Amino acid sequence: MNDSSHIRQEIEAHLQRQRCYQEGGYTRSVSKRLDRLARLAEVLKSYEPDIMVALRQDLNKSELESYTTELGIVLEEIRHIRRRLRRWVKPRKVKTALTHVGSKGYIVPEPYGTVLIIAPWNYPFQLAVSPLVGAIAAGNTVVLKPSELAPAMSALLKRVLGEVFSEDEVVVLEGGVEVSTALLEQKFDYIFFTGSVNVGRIVMEAASKHLTPVTLELGGKSPCIVHYDADVKLAARRIAFGKFTNAGQTCVAPDYLWVHKDIKEELLSELKIAVQSFYGERPLQHPDYGRIVSRRHFDRLVSFTGNGRIVMGGDSDEELLKIEPTVIDQVTWDMPMMKEEIFGPVFPVMEYDSLDQVIQGVRSHPKPLALYLFSESRSVQQQVTESLSFGGGTINDTLMHLATPYLPFGGVGESGMGSYHGYESFKTFSHEKSVLVQTTRFDFTFRYPSSKHALKIMKKLLK
Ligand code: NAD
Repeated sequence: MNDSSHIRQEIEAHLQRQRCYQEGGYTRSVSKRLDRLARLAEVLKSYEPDIMVALRQDLNKSELESYTTELGIVLEEIRHIRRRLRRWVKPRKVKTALTHVGSKGYIVPEPYGTVLIIAPWNYPFQLAVSPLVGAIAAGNTVVLKPSELAPAMSALLKRVLGEVFSEDEVVVLEGGVEVSTALLEQKFDYIFFTGSVNVGRIVMEAASKHLTPVTLELGGKSPCIVHYDADVKLAARRIAFGKFTNAGQTCVAPDYLWVHKDIKEELLSELKIAVQSFYGERPLQHPDYGRIVSRRHFDRLVSFTGNGRIVMGGDSDEELLKIEPTVIDQVTWDMPMMKEEIFGPVFPVMEYDSLDQVIQGVRSHPKPLALYLFSESRSVQQQVTESLSFGGGTINDTLMHLATPYLPFGGVGESGMGSYHGYESFKTFSHEKSVLVQTTRFDFTFRYPSSKHALKIMKKLLK
């Protein structure tokens, strides 16, 4: 038997087991789901040192960064969901229409069944476990495929999740494209994919064969706009934080900077100060500055530095796979760095005169996953948020809209479809089943074909 048919057989066996488990009704108990989530939090806490080591190995993440952007955010998500799950799972009564007098309507959230989660490498813990939490809360079983480009975390997830869940509930299948491809041939009840736009298309095409619903958490070029009335010093710190965390390998990182010409020089010099205060004079040697995930990505990013005028950074270390926080001025849309998502510590800068220029520029490109605006003016904030479409964004900060369970997180257009976090995760992984309980106490005969006045009455009721 060759490798791919072996993988396929293994996947089919897992799916079979998970389906039997679903059909046995074992995931229906809310107490059991709550218990699983509590156990998950407990085990994750006990594995904190291993999680830190794996993130250091895969991406050289510092403990602070790993806790805040990976483990901490997931623990908070579990806590948030556990507190509210009993309320969310209850059938919701809804009003009935005049034509339905005497009946009762309910919306009953039910699990989809068996869910496939495919995760990327850049936040290899959070982006695998956070959707898993939503899927379990909603009563699904899960097949999780972590990224092969974060091998330490992939192996750890298999071990840790294996301690919390039986394979009837959650199974982690490690591997790359060949495993993903084999998984996508199968019929799942829901697919949750986080990754690039191109692979998103492949996932959606495969899902369409079985009409499987999907959430696609993709990427794109997220603009960061700094208006002349912004608090420049504060903006610089917050932008440097959002751009250079995880060496820029963050789906919602500001991709490029669009700054009003009157404050450009001031902002650029404040950016230098901010970066120096975070990573010192020599970021390449800073122990907590992230590394680029692979040689391929490293080469791609370094090639971007050949255009425009470098005003900060520009150096790299191919042994360590590190690239300095690099700011490039005098950038135009026809340069390679503006033709794809950067996903690294290279920061192109463009200047503008009027906001209309920015609005037209953003509109003429695919809808971004995130958008950041720095401005003190309410009307500018309103103009930008109302006239542009983007997945989500933060005014006067970066990344923060992602880190709250109260805001749905997801893209729009090419940056993705569907959303999750908090209640939105529960909704994403639940089918909302509509049930109408009709009365048998009386029967309106006017709806039947034999009724004389049917049409007249119906026209009165349905207008
Ligand atoms: P990727 O699309 O290359 O890989 C994601 C996952 O898909 C991996 O598990 C990989 O094994 C699998 N995969 C790769 N090629 C495949 C194929 N041909 N068929 C089926 N599966 C395949 O993405 P990545 O490089 O891991 O992550 C970077 C991208 O993800 C960026 O574009 C980034 O913006 C995006 N991203 C989005 C979010 C979000 O929440 N919206 C979060 C993180 C990353």
